[in-house]
Amino acid sequence: SDIGSQKDRVVTEEEWLEKWEMGNIGFHKEEGHPLLRKYLDVLLNGRSGLRIFFPLCGKAVEMKWLADMGHSIVGVEISEQAVKEFFSEHSLPYCEEPVPEISGAKMFQSTSGNISLYCCSIYDLSSSIVGKFDGVWDRGALVAVNPCDRQCYASLMISLVEKNSSYLLVTVSYDPNKHKGENF
Ligand code: SAH
Repeated sequence: SDIGSQKDRVVTEEEWLEKWEMGNIGFHKEEGHPLLRKYLDVLLNGRSGLRIFFPLCGKAVEMKWLADMGHSIVGVEISEQAVKEFFSEHSLPYCEEPVPEISGAKMFQSTSGNISLYCCSIYDLSSSIVGKFDGVWDRGALVAVNPCDRQCYASLMISLVEKNSSYLLVTVSYDPNKHKGENF
């Protein structure tokens, strides 16, 4: 697609951390996403107890929703504040531990064990660290990836999914030369 004027735009990790610090998180929604409800059957495809990945997870409430249905959730998020807010806003006790393979990274896990959130850059993950997934909920993730990192993101996501996985992607289609937009 013609990414036009957005091609060289970059949002840095520091800018994301700052958005969280300033509470500038208009992307976060308290209500579960209507498209996840609508396409839940496509994601699950009749299966139960799935491993579901949330790239660039923020504090997405859908993680709790799917965990409550019996699935295992793994997310990755650069902002520790976001991860901590997720657990506290759902009153979920958690523990945190370092990730030996990734310098500076931490993994936050609900005491019940079914929600694990990696606090690091997604580009530091690999299937040897997080395993492979049966499903992906990609909302606010691909569209937040800097255009120059898209290929790397796509290759990584392909390496993280099982053969029979389902990948739900929420994206937007528009002419970037006509609209500025926060999303890519
Ligand atoms: N998917 C979430 C959040 C979308 S906003 C939702 O639906 O609400 C994108 C999120 O990605 C932000 O919380 C930002 O802090 C995080 N982020 C940006 N770059 C990242 C990176 N390289 N690795 C991990 N998280 C990142």
